[in-house]
Amino acid sequence: MIETQIVAPESIFGQIAEHQHEQVVYCHDHETGLKAIIGIHNTVLGPALGGTRMWHYASDAEALNDVLRLSRGMTYKAAISGLNLGGGKAVIIGDAATLKTEALLRKFGRFVKNLNGKYITAEDVNMTTKDMEYIRMETKHVAGLPESMGGSGDPSPVTAYGVYMGMKAAAKKAFGSESLAGKRIGVQGTGHVGTYLLEHLQKEGAKLIVTDYYEDRALDAANRFGATAVGLDEIYDQEMDIYSPCALGATLNDDTIPRLKARVVAGCANNQLKNENQHGPELVRRGIVYAPDFLINAGGLINVYSEVTGGSRQGALTQTEKIYDFTLQVLAKAEEEGTHPQAAAIKQAKERIASVGRVKSTY
Ligand code: NAD
Repeated sequence: MIETQIVAPESIFGQIAEHQHEQVVYCHDHETGLKAIIGIHNTVLGPALGGTRMWHYASDAEALNDVLRLSRGMTYKAAISGLNLGGGKAVIIGDAATLKTEALLRKFGRFVKNLNGKYITAEDVNMTTKDMEYIRMETKHVAGLPESMGGSGDPSPVTAYGVYMGMKAAAKKAFGSESLAGKRIGVQGTGHVGTYLLEHLQKEGAKLIVTDYYEDRALDAANRFGATAVGLDEIYDQEMDIYSPCALGATLNDDTIPRLKARVVAGCANNQLKNENQHGPELVRRGIVYAPDFLINAGGLINVYSEVTGGSRQGALTQTEKIYDFTLQVLAKAEEEGTHPQAAAIKQAKERIASVGRVKSTY
């Protein structure tokens, strides 16, 4: 008798199986010091597109966990945004400041090339459009190239626009009006997206609070946008209507949620809920409207998709604007089904993958 084996999640295949990833590729090159993992979560809708992140992970296990979580998020982001893309992501292990060289990036490009278009890479944390140029020397399966090379350039302004739209939709749900005028909004992380988002919020007359890991960045943003700069950990305790996580993931957790006075959470960071099944419902219990991260930060992916399919930035912006309607729909659906918004958004993404998968089941 064959028994169904329960795989311990600590095992590598246990982790890969947990969220049904299709393929995980380990890349190694002794000469350049390249150690990378490419995670391909799902390619039912199309090739897996997702950026490459370079990070000094504390362990290989941490890197694997990151690539698995991020690539899964890309699947749902593409699916819910109506794009014909699957979900993938790559991580390069190491300190970008010391390890990143032309040779390392080109070697990584050759590994991407070997996947024959099943995975298309792009920028992510600690990678630049210049780095994409090096990868492009070895493979054509790269997006997010500079405009001078026919690419779509920096995706951050489009991402910020989508987050702004999602935030307005969540405000409509929480406060009965989409207007952000006079609302106190705390933006955590004044990097690329955070700064473009602050521009929109300032124009609309919001009262802004900012913080950043680099104090000078927070102070610059405070000067530029008339915001109040606060310390890294102080952001959670602010008297604010909206909290906007625009730095790293997992900032909605057991420690931070009880401290939040905001009625809305809407930001660009990926994987904001430390534990989806626990912290998603917890926000609902506390009457906080959460705009699902992968839904409202899809602008950058929509922009890159337009590059791959020959569209324009204007077209990408028009599509990104729809995030307002999509967010309202997901929030309504979550309420109707008695679930939390992240779960409702994932369900919707999975339904599209399943229905398109059935279309593709015959030649
Ligand atoms: P970025 O590196 O330009 O900005 C992030 C900022 O957060 C930096 O200034 C950094 O110093 C700051 N930061 C880091 N840890 C912090 C902490 N604990 N508290 C406060 N600030 C902290 O990155 P970005 O391109 O603006 O992206 C921000 C987030 O949005 C990332 O999670 C990224 O994965 C996600 N995202 C970005 C895009 C895009 O188009 N750039 C698209 C989708 C999702």
